[in-house]
This record gives sequence, structure tokens and C-alpha cells, in this order.
Amino acid sequence: PAAAGPALAGAPASAPYLNPRLPVAQRVSDLLGRMTLEEKIGQMTQAERGAIDADPGQITSLALGSVLSGGSSVPSDNTPSGWADMVDRYQAAALKTRLKIPLLYGIDSVHGDNNLVGATVFPHNNAMGATRDPALVREEERITATETRATGPQWVFAPCICVSRDLRWGRTYESFSEDPALVIKMETALEGFQGRSPKDLADPTHVLATAKHYAGDGDTKYGSSTSGTYTIDQGVTITDRAHFNKIDLAPYVPAVRKYHVGSIMPSFSSVDWTEDGVGNPVKMSASKELLTDVLKKKIGFDGFLISDWEAIHQLPGDYANQVRTAVNAGMDMFMEPYSAPQFEQTLLAEVKAGRVATSRIDDAVARILKAKFELGLFEHPYTDRTNITSVGSPAHRAVARRAVAESQVLLKNSGRVLPLKKSQRIYVAGVNADDMGNQAGGWTVSWQGSSGNIIPGATILQGIRQNAKNVTYSADASAPTAGSDVGVVVVGETPYAEGVGDVGNGHTLNLSDADRANIDKVCSAIEKCVVLDVAGRPQIVTDELPKMDAFVMSWLPGSEGAGVSDTLFGNRPYTGRLSYTWPRSESQEPINIGDKNYDPLFPYGYGLRTRR
Ligand code: BGC
Repeated sequence: PAAAGPALAGAPASAPYLNPRLPVAQRVSDLLGRMTLEEKIGQMTQAERGAIDADPGQITSLALGSVLSGGSSVPSDNTPSGWADMVDRYQAAALKTRLKIPLLYGIDSVHGDNNLVGATVFPHNNAMGATRDPALVREEERITATETRATGPQWVFAPCICVSRDLRWGRTYESFSEDPALVIKMETALEGFQGRSPKDLADPTHVLATAKHYAGDGDTKYGSSTSGTYTIDQGVTITDRAHFNKIDLAPYVPAVRKYHVGSIMPSFSSVDWTEDGVGNPVKMSASKELLTDVLKKKIGFDGFLISDWEAIHQLPGDYANQVRTAVNAGMDMFMEPYSAPQFEQTLLAEVKAGRVATSRIDDAVARILKAKFELGLFEHPYTDRTNITSVGSPAHRAVARRAVAESQVLLKNSGRVLPLKKSQRIYVAGVNADDMGNQAGGWTVSWQGSSGNIIPGATILQGIRQNAKNVTYSADASAPTAGSDVGVVVVGETPYAEGVGDVGNGHTLNLSDADRANIDKVCSAIEKCVVLDVAGRPQIVTDELPKMDAFVMSWLPGSEGAGVSDTLFGNRPYTGRLSYTWPRSESQEPINIGDKNYDPLFPYGYGLRTRR
């Protein structure tokens, strides 16, 4: 419905917007001047590949500006060329539009190009925070950008620069730290994705990045109070402006001013200013104050805002109200996975009725087109496959393996049981010692992730076996023998993503019964015992800690489990430090560095070091 009428002619080859030698701003204004209102609204619309795959002609007929792969949306041929072929097929449809405006393809590359089977899968962000190594996270995201772009998508919904203040949040592992200072330090991620300046975006080793989720997504209230019951994911940040600026907003200032982030995704969550009285939460997608006045005007953000998955459907009123409110608040592109046609019709009617100003539409479209010009898409709309053979390459995996090793946090090491010796007889227990899906966590091939042998790489057990000859493994710690020199018990979580992983939503910070039984069996039968926690967040180990000789936080290491054994056997030293406060009990949450009466099991920043 939004496509231009057949009466309108295309642009001549001499049109300024087609001239790569002209400045981006001039190209944007030339193109904008040629577009119909319908074409402009098309640029503001993003559909899900699942909605258009059967008929990519919809990309042409709706003049879509963008397509995304949601968390579980992969092509039937989930290989590097399968992805690139699919994205190029969609691009061909976009180039059939009157003005031949290329399509932007977005995907959640949150720990590597993680939807693609065979990609290099890095540790999740909280592990990267534990490395305290900004150069390493920059390298991670340059690799992620290279693998992602070589397989089609030119835009990633990453990094999450959220500041997670409560471990009960199912997205804790997506956050570098509870401390905004560490999150800011790790924003070199943005440079890895985009390069040093917008000029680098056209390079096939870079992608447009998205800082998400603006703002306060990790600082929502949990549980209930006199004013209501709060879910932690997509919840309400109840705060005053001073705290909000210091904790939640702070990472966005360097993301915009220092790293020129290309897009920002407003959060599903709401903010409720305590000074206004609890009970008046405003959704981020509806906050003109925070999207336009603070982010665009005060901080100076000149990229575009992409709404989160059907986020506007959560706004009050009917659909027309929701669309109008978000556009007028400053939202530029709309992730409307299965309702792109309705979105376009509704926004068109709102503009025609004068409830949305055409100047607001022009502003949104200019921001989107700027990104497309900077990415070089008008000159090179199809996938540059030069780097396709680097996907999952040994060189890329070596960096991920180093990231795993650097992220390991040694929390206890009595009698210096670590590092292990290669000559020792080692008894390994626990499902998470040998489960690729579990060690990769959520956002791996599918949205929620899954257990099992879902991607290539090395499990932790395989890494241990690369180092030692005498290794016995039993998932449930059956018959641990006193004949072993050391037991290694791998405990942890199984995969989850977003609110599905919230504590209270079937999840707890406590160890499972099976994991506690494994610790008991192995630590009582074998002289020395080491426990590794393979989980998306610190788990409660207060009662078990005295039974262990050594305890290591291994986080969610991703595809390169051998990095865990690199530190275990002393091939690399332990240098990681906690990016989160480790609580004594679940009821201590939320507990964060700087709190009054701070009394955790392990403080923020803790981590023992070993020599090589
Ligand atoms: C998440 C975003 C993600 C989007 C697209 C949403 O559910 O909140 O972080 O980028 O889905 O997959």
C-alpha cells in the first residue's frame, strides 16, 4: 500500500544522491526531496524475515526500509552462504523500488554472529566485563562485525550497554557490569563494530551498531510494593533523575559523543520519577523527554532510534494512538515484525490527518538514509563475501578462546590446588562440563538457546582432555573414586533469554539439587575438588564453598570451552575480576557496589591471580 504509484518516474543516473563523491548530508537531502510520503514511511518500517520470506515481493510493494531476523529466525540453509543468499534475495527486491533505496538487514549478533551455525561464539557480555580488557572486546566485535557482514546483515542489535543492577534479571549476562564505569570502559565494543568514524562503516569488516536498551532496562524494580507488583524484565525503573543520570543514562553519553553509535533501541521498560510520586510510569517508547529532548537534543544523538520488538503495542490506546505517540516522541524506525502493512497504513493516516508532522517524518527518514549512505549500500548493496571464509576460522576462534581464558574469575584456591597438573588423574562431573548449548547460553542459534550439540567448537570437557590424559567423566558423578587426584565439578544453569530467565519465572539463583549432590559426592570422595560455575550470573554457593578447594566463575564461555581449561592447567594465568557483586543469598538482591551495609560473599572486582 505504501509503494509509489506507477506514474512516478525513477531517478536519473545523474541524481546527486547516486553520486558517492558528494557529502552524505547532500545525498540525503536530494533523496528525501524525491520521495513520496508513502516511500518515506516505508523507510521507517521494519518487518521480520519470517513474515516476508515466502514473498520477498512485499519488500518492493511495501517499500520496506529494513528486515530483521528475530532471535529464532534463521534461513532453512543456516550456513554462511545460505544467509548471504537470503539477504541478497531481499536486497534484489528492495532495488526494484522506484528510487532503488537499499535495504538494511538487522540481527542480534550479541556474542558473535550467534544465529549462524558455525560462527565464532564469544562469551556473553558479563564475562567480557570480567576481563577488564577493552582492547579484547573491541577485537571481539570487529570479528563479530566481519562474520556478520560477510553473511549479509549490515546492522547488529548490539551491544547491550545496559547496567544490570539485579541478578534476578534474565538479561544479566547481556550486561558488561553492574557498574556504569565498567560498562563505559567496554564501549570499545562500539568501535569494534563500527570502526573509528562513520567513514569506516562501508568497510566489509564493520557493521552499524545499536546501543540498547535506552535506558534503565537493567535497573527496574523487582517484586511488589504498596504501589504494585513489578516484573523485572520490561519492568519499571523507579528512580530520581540524579540516580537515573548517574547509573542508567551515563553509558549513552560516550556511546553517542565518542563512538558515534549509529542506532539506539529504546527499552521495553518504563521510568517512574519518584519525585512525581510512584504510580505514573512512562514507557520509554512514549517518552518525548527522554528520546528527543535528552537523547537527541541534549546528548546530541544523530543516528536513528529503532523500536524494540512490537514495543509500541504496549503503549496505551488503540494502534493509531500507539504509532502516533511513539513517532512524536522521536522513534524513527519501527520493528513491527508481523504488522508492517498495518503500520504503514496507520502512520500514513496520522500524517494526513495532521496528527504527525511531516517534518518529524523527514527527520526520521533523513536519519535512516544517513546510515544507509554511510554503510555504502547505494554503491555496494549486495553482500561483499570476501571475508566469508573467515566465519568460524581458527584465527577468530583463537581470539574467542583467549577471551574465555581472560574472563575466568578465580574466587577460591586453598592449598593452591590450581593450576592443575597435566599428569594428575582427573575426575570430571556435571552436565555443563560437556554441553555446548549450555555453555553458550541464550541467543545461540535460537532466541532461548538450547542444550546439546548445537554449534561446532569445544566443550569444557574436550578442553580438559586436550591437556590431561587421565580423565574420567560422569555427568551425575556416579562412582567418584578416591583413586583420582582431583575432582572437577561443573555446575551452572541451562539456557534462557530475556524475561524467561527472570528469577521467579521458573528460575532461581540457587544451585540445582543435582549440582549440589555432585559437589557433595565429588568433594567428599576425592581429596581435592575444584568447582566451575558455568552460568549466566553468580549462583548462591554460600553453603557449598567450604567443601571446595577451588572455585571459579566460568560464566557462559560460548563455543571455545578450551579457554576454560587454558587457565585450569596454567597455560594462561587467572586474571579475571568480578563484573558483578556475588551475593550470599538470593534475598540479598539487589546488591551493588556502593550500597550501604554492603556484605556480599565476594565483593565487586574480586578475583585471585595466578602466575603462568
Ligand atoms: C529484544 C531485543 C532484540 C529484539 C530483536 C527483543 O525481544 O528485547 O534486545 O534486539 O528482540 O530480536
